[in-house]
Amino acid sequence: MKIVLASSEAIPFAKTGGLADVASALSKALAEAGHEVSLFLPYYPQSTARRGINADDFETCPEKVIISVGSKDVEASLLKAKFPNSNVSVYLVDQPRYFDRPELYHEGGCDYQDNCERFIFFSRSVLEFVDKLNLKPDVIHSNDWQTGLIPALLNIEYQDRPGFEKTASIYTIHNMAFQGQYWHWDMLLTGIDWKYFNRHQMEFFGQLNLLKTGIVFSDMITTVSPTYANEIRTERFGYGLHGVLDSHADRLVGILNGVDPSEWNPETDPNIEANYSAKTVEEGKPRCKAALQARLGLPQRPDVPLLGTISRMTDQKGFSLILDAAENLLTTDVQMIFLGTGDPLHEVAFTNLAKRFPDKVATYIGFDEALAHQIEAGLDIFLMPSQFEPCGLNQMYSLIYGTVPLVHEVGGLADSVIDASGENLENGTANGFSFWHFDATVLYRQMRRAVEMYSDKQNWNQLIQTGMTKDWSWNQSAQNYLSVYQRACSLRA
Ligand code: ADP
Repeated sequence: MKIVLASSEAIPFAKTGGLADVASALSKALAEAGHEVSLFLPYYPQSTARRGINADDFETCPEKVIISVGSKDVEASLLKAKFPNSNVSVYLVDQPRYFDRPELYHEGGCDYQDNCERFIFFSRSVLEFVDKLNLKPDVIHSNDWQTGLIPALLNIEYQDRPGFEKTASIYTIHNMAFQGQYWHWDMLLTGIDWKYFNRHQMEFFGQLNLLKTGIVFSDMITTVSPTYANEIRTERFGYGLHGVLDSHADRLVGILNGVDPSEWNPETDPNIEANYSAKTVEEGKPRCKAALQARLGLPQRPDVPLLGTISRMTDQKGFSLILDAAENLLTTDVQMIFLGTGDPLHEVAFTNLAKRFPDKVATYIGFDEALAHQIEAGLDIFLMPSQFEPCGLNQMYSLIYGTVPLVHEVGGLADSVIDASGENLENGTANGFSFWHFDATVLYRQMRRAVEMYSDKQNWNQLIQTGMTKDWSWNQSAQNYLSVYQRACSLRA
């Protein structure tokens, strides 16, 4: 198949969260399965430079396009790159006025005011370059609100253009909480006729909603876990769009993300103190734990249970609960590590916690990918009590690194973590801890339960082995995406 993926971020070029991991790993897995894959993303020069990628790592394409955004005509240029060891063609849309900024979406807690304009420009550029490069794709796969306009443009403006007659659109929702909702006059920026600004298509409570636009106009909709696919059709998780999703349920499929083994694999990870496999975890992991304790200034004690997390510090990720439960657990003999950035209230609270318990808690406010790998390898217990979690990647990284996850049983967490109940331990499926009631006392009890089981080496090793020996790679998920692509194409035929 000829597949075009459009995403606002992808590693190694730019990353703020899971979307970046998924966009690049899925592209690579599809290319490995023999398909012709082109991945489009904006060129953020400041982000790529920070990540050690220089201008000479890109090839400048001769093609240029002029994009009308409202009353402005803006030029887009194109850079081309390749992932190492992969055939994916990566195209970066270059327009410094929109993308040469310190961050991707916001600075100092405030969204860039022209985000709507920036990503309308990007979405239109993708389609124009697909045309210019004569890619003739079977499918265009867009992701999240930033590229929600693409399925609409395909339907309304492009489907009769040569090269697009058979192109099907797939749209993946990575998080319902981010909808790209803007005041109604931004409809003018889309260049789409006002007749589409109605409650069945692009309008939502008087505003333009780009996530809804993607859902409504695509041939197939996917989201990043089977449980989340069901949850988002309910009022609790649908963020107002549950009715829309319910009415399109026959086109909605949940596919659990996989993990890219070239990025997350304790056997080859260059960031960690010692490499290890399921067979050598008992020698390798203690070395990683000791190195992590040393790096973050905690006493190097091999037997103390080490709990922690790596996350955006937001309420979605359960940080209020973690704070309450941690206060209680810190009366016992444990250590904790927190890596994250986000809500300033959480940043301050966790920084203070580390100041109050310097021998027990280390907090690192910042985005540090090497440290994230070291934490995955060094922790004993990974905390992920998210209020909701479309898929979640860190619980899977934890399972692969022999770190036992403790999660709220929602979304992708429910689809990947099996609680260490007596029955699940006996039948060999248990790989972590999970709880249902979203409450700090319940989380505290689960943390105690995990810490107690940590000293029962036989059960603990069983949990580790169950997590480490399962295949978490993209193989199955990429096959599931291909089935969705085929279904979308057959709907177009
Ligand atoms: P989300 O996309 O909702 O933020 P996911 O669990 O799907 O959550 O993915 C988050 C990704 O971002 C993971 O790869 C995680 O390791 C990474 N990450 C989050 N915060 C940080 C941080 N402060 N430093 C390094 N990596 C981080």
